[in-house]
Amino acid sequence: MRYDPDPQNRFSTLRSFEIWGCLGTVSNSDCSGTTGWVRIGRFLNAFASDLPRPLMPNMLIKQFDVTAMNADHLRLVVLDNACTGNPLYHGEQDNDPANDTDCVAASEQGGNVRIAELQALRRRAVAAVHAGWRGTVRRIAEQAVGALRERYGTDPRDCVAALGPGIRGCCYEVDAPVMEPLSRALADWGACASQRGAGRWLLDLAAANRRMLEGAGLDPAAIHDAGLCTRCRPALFYSHRGQGPTTGRMMNAILLTA
Ligand SMILES: [Zn+2]
Repeated sequence: MRYDPDPQNRFSTLRSFEIWGCLGTVSNSDCSGTTGWVRIGRFLNAFASDLPRPLMPNMLIKQFDVTAMNADHLRLVVLDNACTGNPLYHGEQDNDPANDTDCVAASEQGGNVRIAELQALRRRAVAAVHAGWRGTVRRIAEQAVGALRERYGTDPRDCVAALGPGIRGCCYEVDAPVMEPLSRALADWGACASQRGAGRWLLDLAAANRRMLEGAGLDPAAIHDAGLCTRCRPALFYSHRGQGPTTGRMMNAILLTA
Protein backbone atom coordinates (compact mmCIF):
# COMPACT_ATOMS: atom_id res chain seq x y z
CA MET A 1 0.00 0.00 0.00
CA ARG A 2 1.01 3.60 -0.57
CA TYR A 3 1.16 6.42 1.90
CA ASP A 4 -1.92 8.57 1.34
CA PRO A 5 -0.75 12.17 0.81
CA ASP A 6 -4.20 13.59 0.13
CA PRO A 7 -6.45 15.48 2.52
CA GLN A 8 -8.52 13.57 5.04
CA ASN A 9 -10.10 10.40 3.76
CA ARG A 10 -11.58 8.04 6.29
CA PHE A 11 -11.53 5.07 3.87
CA SER A 12 -7.76 5.07 3.63
CA THR A 13 -7.25 4.84 7.39
CA LEU A 14 -5.42 1.82 8.75
CA ARG A 15 -7.53 -1.23 9.60
CA SER A 16 -5.29 -4.31 10.01
CA PHE A 17 -1.55 -4.40 10.57
CA GLU A 18 1.45 -6.23 11.95
CA ILE A 19 4.32 -5.01 14.07
CA TRP A 20 7.79 -6.43 13.44
CA GLY A 21 10.86 -5.81 15.54
CA CYS A 22 14.57 -6.09 14.81
CA LEU A 23 17.58 -6.11 17.07
CA GLY A 24 20.59 -5.09 15.02
CA THR A 25 23.06 -7.87 14.37
CA VAL A 26 26.69 -7.90 13.32
CA SER A 27 25.71 -8.28 9.68
CA ASN A 28 22.64 -6.08 9.85
CA SER A 29 23.40 -3.47 12.50
CA ASP A 30 20.92 -0.87 11.25
CA CYS A 31 18.19 -3.44 10.46
CA SER A 32 18.10 -2.29 6.84
CA GLY A 33 18.39 -5.90 5.64
CA THR A 34 16.00 -8.76 6.14
CA THR A 35 17.80 -10.60 8.91
CA GLY A 36 16.88 -10.12 12.53
CA TRP A 37 13.25 -9.22 11.90
CA VAL A 38 10.60 -10.99 13.95
CA ARG A 39 6.85 -10.49 13.88
CA ILE A 40 5.72 -9.53 17.39
CA GLY A 41 2.10 -8.65 16.76
CA ARG A 42 -0.71 -9.19 14.23
CA PHE A 43 -3.85 -7.11 14.63
CA LEU A 44 -6.74 -7.87 12.32
CA ASN A 45 -9.66 -5.43 12.18
CA ALA A 46 -7.83 -3.34 14.76
CA PHE A 47 -9.68 -0.22 13.67
CA ALA A 48 -13.02 -1.78 12.79
CA SER A 49 -15.77 0.26 11.18
CA ASP A 50 -19.40 -0.07 10.16
CA LEU A 51 -21.81 1.16 7.52
CA PRO A 52 -22.17 3.60 6.00
CA ARG A 53 -18.60 4.77 6.64
CA PRO A 54 -15.77 4.62 9.20
CA LEU A 55 -16.46 6.87 12.14
CA MET A 56 -13.96 8.98 14.02
CA PRO A 57 -14.30 7.15 17.38
CA ASN A 58 -13.09 3.96 15.66
CA MET A 59 -10.02 5.60 14.19
CA LEU A 60 -8.61 7.23 17.30
CA ILE A 61 -5.63 6.22 19.41
CA LYS A 62 -5.54 2.60 20.55
CA GLN A 63 -3.08 0.48 22.47
CA PHE A 64 -1.99 -3.03 21.49
CA ASP A 65 0.20 -5.55 23.30
CA VAL A 66 3.06 -7.05 21.34
CA THR A 67 5.28 -9.98 22.25
CA ALA A 68 8.09 -8.75 24.47
CA MET A 69 11.32 -8.28 22.55
CA ASN A 70 14.55 -6.33 22.82
CA ALA A 71 14.42 -4.34 19.59
CA ASP A 72 16.12 -1.24 18.27
CA HIS A 73 13.95 -0.96 15.16
CA LEU A 74 10.22 -1.45 14.62
CA ARG A 75 8.29 -1.88 11.41
CA LEU A 76 4.59 -1.42 10.88
CA VAL A 77 3.30 -3.67 8.09
CA VAL A 78 -0.05 -2.60 6.65
CA LEU A 79 -2.37 -5.52 5.88
CA ASP A 80 -5.36 -3.49 4.75
CA ASN A 81 -7.06 -0.15 5.12
CA ALA A 82 -10.66 0.63 6.07
CA CYS A 83 -11.73 0.32 2.43
CA THR A 84 -10.04 -2.89 1.35
CA GLY A 85 -10.28 -4.62 4.72
CA ASN A 86 -13.96 -4.26 5.33
CA PRO A 87 -16.32 -6.43 3.20
CA LEU A 88 -19.13 -4.03 4.04
CA TYR A 89 -17.66 -1.52 1.59
CA HIS A 90 -17.07 -4.03 -1.21
CA GLY A 91 -19.48 -4.02 -4.15
CA GLU A 92 -21.99 -1.43 -5.17
CA GLN A 93 -23.42 0.47 -2.27
CA ASP A 94 -26.51 1.81 -4.11
CA ASN A 95 -28.77 0.99 -7.08
CA ASP A 96 -27.59 3.79 -9.33
CA PRO A 97 -25.72 2.23 -12.30
CA ALA A 98 -24.32 5.64 -13.23
CA ASN A 99 -22.60 6.00 -9.89
CA ASP A 100 -19.79 3.59 -9.05
CA THR A 101 -19.85 3.12 -5.28
CA ASP A 102 -17.63 0.05 -4.80
CA CYS A 103 -14.93 1.27 -2.43
CA VAL A 104 -12.27 -1.09 -3.75
CA ALA A 105 -12.94 -0.78 -7.49
CA ALA A 106 -14.10 2.81 -7.71
CA SER A 107 -11.80 4.64 -5.38
CA GLU A 108 -8.16 5.45 -5.90
CA GLN A 109 -7.86 5.24 -2.15
CA GLY A 110 -8.05 1.46 -2.31
CA GLY A 111 -4.27 1.24 -2.45
CA ASN A 112 -3.56 4.07 -0.05
CA VAL A 113 -3.23 4.11 3.69
CA ARG A 114 -2.86 6.79 6.34
CA ILE A 115 -1.46 6.40 9.80
CA ALA A 116 -0.95 9.32 12.13
CA GLU A 117 1.55 8.00 14.63
CA LEU A 118 3.08 4.83 16.06
CA GLN A 119 4.54 4.84 19.54
CA ALA A 120 6.30 1.91 21.20
CA LEU A 121 6.02 1.86 24.97
CA ARG A 122 7.82 -0.37 27.39
CA ARG A 123 5.68 -2.41 29.69
CA ARG A 124 6.16 -1.38 33.27
CA ALA A 125 6.93 -4.16 35.71
CA VAL A 126 7.95 -4.57 39.33
CA ALA A 127 9.31 -7.45 41.35
CA ALA A 128 9.92 -8.03 45.06
CA VAL A 129 12.71 -10.40 46.01
CA HIS A 130 13.73 -11.83 49.36
CA ALA A 131 17.46 -12.38 49.35
CA GLY A 132 18.71 -14.14 52.45
CA TRP A 133 21.98 -15.98 52.24
CA ARG A 134 20.45 -19.00 50.50
CA GLY A 135 18.73 -16.81 47.92
CA THR A 136 21.92 -14.84 47.42
CA VAL A 137 23.86 -18.06 46.82
CA ARG A 138 21.28 -18.93 44.16
CA ARG A 139 21.68 -15.46 42.62
CA ILE A 140 18.06 -14.52 43.12
CA ALA A 141 18.52 -10.80 42.37
CA GLU A 142 20.14 -11.63 39.05
CA GLN A 143 17.41 -14.18 38.33
CA ALA A 144 14.72 -11.58 39.05
CA VAL A 145 16.25 -9.24 36.47
CA GLY A 146 16.36 -12.15 34.02
CA ALA A 147 12.70 -12.99 34.67
CA LEU A 148 11.66 -9.37 34.08
CA ARG A 149 13.69 -9.34 30.91
CA GLU A 150 12.17 -12.56 29.64
CA ARG A 151 8.56 -11.86 30.59
CA TYR A 152 8.30 -8.11 30.03
CA GLY A 153 11.20 -7.23 27.76
CA THR A 154 12.75 -5.18 30.55
CA ASP A 155 16.13 -3.60 29.82
CA PRO A 156 18.29 -3.76 32.98
CA ARG A 157 19.61 -0.28 32.12
CA ASP A 158 16.09 1.06 32.76
CA CYS A 159 15.68 -0.64 36.13
CA VAL A 160 15.60 1.04 39.50
CA ALA A 161 16.37 -1.18 42.49
CA ALA A 162 15.87 -0.60 46.20
CA LEU A 163 17.62 -2.62 48.89
CA GLY A 164 15.28 -2.70 51.86
CA PRO A 165 15.87 -3.40 55.55
CA GLY A 166 17.73 -6.56 56.45
CA ILE A 167 20.50 -7.72 58.70
CA ARG A 168 23.65 -5.92 57.63
CA GLY A 169 27.35 -6.40 57.64
CA CYS A 170 27.52 -4.83 61.11
CA CYS A 171 25.62 -7.74 62.69
CA TYR A 172 25.42 -10.72 60.37
CA GLU A 173 28.04 -13.13 61.60
CA VAL A 174 28.23 -16.34 59.62
CA ASP A 175 30.38 -19.45 59.57
CA ALA A 176 31.89 -21.72 56.96
CA PRO A 177 28.64 -23.54 56.00
CA VAL A 178 27.37 -20.15 54.77
CA MET A 179 30.59 -18.73 53.39
CA GLU A 180 31.63 -21.80 51.43
CA PRO A 181 28.63 -21.89 49.07
CA LEU A 182 28.62 -18.09 48.93
CA SER A 183 32.26 -17.93 47.90
CA ARG A 184 31.49 -20.39 45.10
CA ALA A 185 28.50 -18.34 43.93
CA LEU A 186 30.13 -14.89 44.08
CA ALA A 187 33.49 -14.37 42.43
CA ASP A 188 34.15 -11.21 44.47
CA TRP A 189 32.68 -12.47 47.73
CA GLY A 190 35.71 -11.19 49.61
CA ALA A 191 34.52 -7.60 49.07
CA CYS A 192 31.24 -8.44 50.84
CA ALA A 193 32.63 -10.15 53.93
CA SER A 194 35.23 -9.48 56.58
CA GLN A 195 36.88 -12.20 58.59
CA ARG A 196 36.15 -12.12 62.29
CA GLY A 197 38.32 -14.88 63.65
CA ALA A 198 38.82 -18.49 62.67
CA GLY A 199 35.91 -19.70 60.54
CA ARG A 200 33.77 -16.64 61.21
CA TRP A 201 32.90 -13.71 58.98
CA LEU A 202 30.69 -10.66 59.00
CA LEU A 203 28.70 -10.89 55.81
CA ASP A 204 27.20 -7.89 54.01
CA LEU A 205 24.33 -9.39 52.02
CA ALA A 206 23.22 -5.98 50.74
CA ALA A 207 26.66 -5.43 49.21
CA ALA A 208 26.56 -8.90 47.64
CA ASN A 209 23.16 -8.23 46.10
CA ARG A 210 24.22 -4.78 44.93
CA ARG A 211 27.15 -6.34 43.09
CA MET A 212 24.86 -8.94 41.58
CA LEU A 213 22.45 -6.27 40.32
CA GLU A 214 25.33 -4.29 38.84
CA GLY A 215 26.55 -7.47 37.17
CA ALA A 216 23.07 -7.96 35.72
CA GLY A 217 23.37 -4.60 33.96
CA LEU A 218 21.79 -2.10 36.36
CA ASP A 219 23.24 1.41 36.59
CA PRO A 220 24.96 1.64 40.02
CA ALA A 221 23.34 5.06 40.52
CA ALA A 222 19.92 3.43 40.14
CA ILE A 223 20.46 1.05 43.05
CA HIS A 224 19.21 2.68 46.22
CA ASP A 225 19.91 1.31 49.67
CA ALA A 226 17.77 1.97 52.74
CA GLY A 227 20.87 1.16 54.80
CA LEU A 228 18.74 -0.16 57.67
CA CYS A 229 19.92 -3.07 59.77
CA THR A 230 17.06 -5.03 61.29
CA ARG A 231 19.17 -6.17 64.19
CA CYS A 232 20.54 -2.73 65.08
CA ARG A 233 17.09 -1.13 64.94
CA PRO A 234 14.82 -3.21 67.19
CA ALA A 235 12.43 -0.28 67.64
CA LEU A 236 11.67 -0.44 63.92
CA PHE A 237 12.09 -4.09 62.93
CA TYR A 238 11.85 -7.68 64.07
CA SER A 239 15.07 -9.64 63.85
CA HIS A 240 15.34 -13.40 64.03
CA ARG A 241 19.03 -13.05 64.77
CA GLY A 242 18.45 -10.40 67.42
CA GLN A 243 15.26 -11.62 69.10
CA GLY A 244 15.12 -15.32 68.38
CA PRO A 245 12.64 -17.47 66.47
CA THR A 246 9.57 -16.31 68.41
CA THR A 247 9.83 -12.72 67.23
CA GLY A 248 7.41 -11.16 64.74
CA ARG A 249 7.56 -11.32 60.98
CA MET A 250 7.87 -8.49 58.45
CA MET A 251 5.95 -8.30 55.24
CA ASN A 252 6.58 -6.20 52.20
CA ALA A 253 4.67 -5.55 49.03
CA ILE A 254 5.19 -3.60 45.86
CA LEU A 255 2.56 -2.28 43.50
CA LEU A 256 2.46 -0.57 40.14
CA THR A 257 0.28 2.50 40.08
CA ALA A 258 -1.32 3.90 36.97
ZN1 LIG B 1 23.47 -4.11 62.54
